[in-house]
Amino acid sequence: GSAKPRVDESGRTLIIGSTGFIGRFVAEASLESGRPTYLLVRGGLVSSCKAKASAIMSLKEKGAIILEGSSNDKATMEKMLKDHKIEIVISTIGGESILEQLVLVEAIKSVGTIKRFMPSEFGHDIDRAEPVEPGLALYKEKREVRRLTEGLGVPYTYICCNSIAAWPYHDNTHPADVLPPLDCFHIYGDGTVKAYFVAGSDIGKFTMKCLDDDRTLNKTIHFRPSTNLLNVNELATLWEEKIGLKLPRVTVTEDDLLSAAKEMVIPRSIVAALTHDIFIKGCQINYSLDKPTDVEVTSLYPDIPFRTVDECFGEFAKKIADVPKAVENSGYKVGIFSPESKPE
Ligand code: NDP
Repeated sequence: GSAKPRVDESGRTLIIGSTGFIGRFVAEASLESGRPTYLLVRGGLVSSCKAKASAIMSLKEKGAIILEGSSNDKATMEKMLKDHKIEIVISTIGGESILEQLVLVEAIKSVGTIKRFMPSEFGHDIDRAEPVEPGLALYKEKREVRRLTEGLGVPYTYICCNSIAAWPYHDNTHPADVLPPLDCFHIYGDGTVKAYFVAGSDIGKFTMKCLDDDRTLNKTIHFRPSTNLLNVNELATLWEEKIGLKLPRVTVTEDDLLSAAKEMVIPRSIVAALTHDIFIKGCQINYSLDKPTDVEVTSLYPDIPFRTVDECFGEFAKKIADVPKAVENSGYKVGIFSPESKPE
């Protein structure tokens, strides 16, 4: 139905990047939480592709207010923040445009009434993790945004939600858009390094909870639900249970991931570099939360459960009407995927 925008209420939230992968989870959750939700859309609806336009229209029907502009236009951003009395700004700008947030941070500073800014993070603690290039270049840009935010005294929360609950393809930027494999599993190294897999809807939901929580002011929020800590071997077994089939496992070695990173094909090589950091180096689990700015999200909301990976993989399995047929169509032949991979 078409909900009325509730613009009189407080908590007016501007989301930048709502047509993106993480952004749509955040926008849905913002509308769900009932806060007045404004979406910054580049180029407006007219110039948008069909899929993007229909995504925006569906958010609009749920009550979102569409504003037109780009985050790196300071005058427009200042006017927009003032005119709409925005209190919270969430950015989910994509990896290639991270520095386009610098102007936004300055606009937020000069307006002076924004209670909370969430820059485009939604991954690892980029001050701690040190992935190989080109992952590191992305992290350096995100660090630059953090330093400007802190330097100008803009109130912030950094969301470190770790991995999205999906198969962690090393060659795909948006794994939750893609089903887990039906041909073979790529197992990184020995497949025993664990990571946190969080449902996209929970990334949105807990981001919303953090927004007006005093305990998250100027803090880094780490998503570490113990029920969602799995390694790749366990993920593979879980998926096999869901589809009722055993699939071959192919080892992707540390060297395979490093060479994929060295190819410098963006964004694929960034994903390879981060896959190496997660599943070889253990970047999500090799540090403890010992800084005064660290907060673990389940300690804030102990009574609110996270969706399990089991549930998420169950949802994926439901999307496949005929598993044997889908497996047949996937055309798996040992060795065709990566010359360096060793079939087991
Ligand atoms: P996408 O590339 O999917 O989407 C980016 C969005 O930002 C689009 O809506 C785009 O609009 C918009 N945008 C970009 N620049 C501007 C600008 N200057 N002004 C206004 N809007 C702009 O991004 P992702 O969802 O992949 O990435 C978002 C964040 O999440 C990143 O920090 C990324 O590192 C992280 N991430 C984390 C993952 C995880 O598993 N934890 C997985 C993927 C990403 P338009 O449609 O006009 O281009």
